Amino acid sequence: MDADQRHHNRSDRQWSLSAALTVLLMMLASMVVADDVATGPHTPGAPVVIEDQQRVDLASALSLLEDPERRYTFEQVRLGRTADSFSPLGERSANFGFTEAAWWVRFTLANPSDQPKRLFIRQDYPLIDHLDFWAPASDQHWQLVSTGDMRPFHLRPVEHRLFLFPVTLPPQSESTYYLRFESQGSMNIGLFAHSQVDLMNLVTKEYLALGVYYGGFIVLLFYNLFMFLTVRERAFAYYLVYLTSYGLYMSLHNGLSFQLLLPDLPLVANKSLLVLLSISLFGGVLFTRTILNTRAQSIRADQFAVVLQWASALMMLISLLLSYRWVIVPLAVLTVIACVHLFVLGLMALARGTGTARYYMIAFSALLIGVYIYMAKTFGLLPHNAFTQNAFQIGSLLEMVLLSLAVASRLNELKTESFTDALTQLKNRRFFNEQIAQEYARAGQTDAPLTLAVIDIDHFKAFNDSRGHSRGDAALKMVASLLKDRVRKPNTVCRYGGEEFVLILPDTSDQEAAVLTERVRATIEKETAFGFSLTVSIGFATMHPGEFEDTDCLFVAADYALYTAKASGRNRVVNYRECDLKRALDNAHRLTGNLMAQPSD
Ligand code: GH3
Ligand code: MG
Ligand code: MG
Repeated sequence: MDADQRHHNRSDRQWSLSAALTVLLMMLASMVVADDVATGPHTPGAPVVIEDQQRVDLASALSLLEDPERRYTFEQVRLGRTADSFSPLGERSANFGFTEAAWWVRFTLANPSDQPKRLFIRQDYPLIDHLDFWAPASDQHWQLVSTGDMRPFHLRPVEHRLFLFPVTLPPQSESTYYLRFESQGSMNIGLFAHSQVDLMNLVTKEYLALGVYYGGFIVLLFYNLFMFLTVRERAFAYYLVYLTSYGLYMSLHNGLSFQLLLPDLPLVANKSLLVLLSISLFGGVLFTRTILNTRAQSIRADQFAVVLQWASALMMLISLLLSYRWVIVPLAVLTVIACVHLFVLGLMALARGTGTARYYMIAFSALLIGVYIYMAKTFGLLPHNAFTQNAFQIGSLLEMVLLSLAVASRLNELKTESFTDALTQLKNRRFFNEQIAQEYARAGQTDAPLTLAVIDIDHFKAFNDSRGHSRGDAALKMVASLLKDRVRKPNTVCRYGGEEFVLILPDTSDQEAAVLTERVRATIEKETAFGFSLTVSIGFATMHPGEFEDTDCLFVAADYALYTAKASGRNRVVNYRECDLKRALDNAHRLTGNLMAQPSD
């Protein structure tokens, strides 16, 4: 099996691996199918009657009040002593993007039954800086819970990545609740009421899905870390930077890292968010430039990528110094530009047809499809279920898996490049050395003959001198392509150096080799290069088991046959076995230095 074949088998294995992973992740995701969610009242802002439902989306029950100066007190809001008054959210979305204002939210829950009802109010976006929740307590008092991701985690009534507020509805009662949202980041208000059982089901599945997601990340992290330590290829290091910062960014974004890693450091958690996003952009651009070898494709495109890379580094510093509000918009713009440019770089590499580019683009597409499904769900084009809800995360995990395959593929490419001669695209001398050693060993085991032929262009110096070096190069390429056409597997042709080529002919007797090499010689003689007929001289030696001590001896024999061909007039093939053997032997000894030079005649 030669290197090309091995390469193919390996990439086949990688494909099936990635397909298997995709299926596995899809199955895990669809395992977590969401239960039905009841919606709130039909009249916007009216009380929600809590009976047997497990979960209620409170959106249609919400009334909102904007507090542009962030000055209102709870008393003012509750008693209506504000400039504006509460208005129902109705069909509007409660995502306000970046806003200076504080938002007050009010809703009412009714319990018509004779039993008290224990519920949890859940705010499903975790990155709200300051979140206050007022529930009615006994005798006209209000119970306040102050939380938010700018406050220490332990202030939360329930230890959870999102905000959960336990409430108890007394029998046959209506209770009104107030919340105040204030945040430098995106203002997303998404409130649900859950029964205890429903919340437990939801959280169990959710944390399982998150576990699978981050488990995947951690496996990839260690796999690529070990790969880097083993092969020391930079692409793995850049990939690790990208993977780690992106994974941490995601875990901060969904509130998990704040819960588990930094519960007492809200400021660090908030700062880290944008710093990590900047680092992952930086790592992503650097990684792409490396594995797609963009500098070799287009200097301009690569230079623009360099600009993006350093802009990300700058954003990293800025996000350490300035507040979230000032950084988020330029960073979002930079992210979009970088994504588009990385995609373009991928397309350019794809046009060149590299295997690495294929993995890269499939990885990128997985992420984009995930984002698309998630967006389509957000805008109501696709149903809300566990798959659409987690599509973004599934896409990003698939992206990471496929990117790590892209690195492996790049490694293969580099290896192939190191075995290829740049001018002729034939295999080079390094490859020859490995291959001849393998074939020599195999011939020893199988008792099959092995032939080595050395080919040298006649009077090539004269050709170079009269036509110029660049035509000399073109002529070399032409000879190389003729050789490539003539020499089929399992035979191998390599450029040994200069205007010399070698043929490895496994399992080939000297009669067969004579026919093949003569055909090669005649083909090259027939072709003309720029009106100048080129010819080659060929010497070959066939090894039968036990005949040559090592590959060097075999080479010296073939080279001696070539020397004989040159000496006897060029443009011919000489079999080592038909040379003057005493002279050949002496010559071999002289060249290998096995014996002190014998007196030659
Ligand atoms: P002979 O028939 O004895 O082999 O004569 P020759 O001129 O071919 O042999 P010699 O070894 O003296 O010269 C080889 C020449 O090949 C020298 C150099 O100009 C040319 N050559 C070697 N490598 C390259 C190359 O990569 N490109 C070009 N254009 N010429 C090369
Ligand atoms: Mg020559
Ligand atoms: Mg030569």
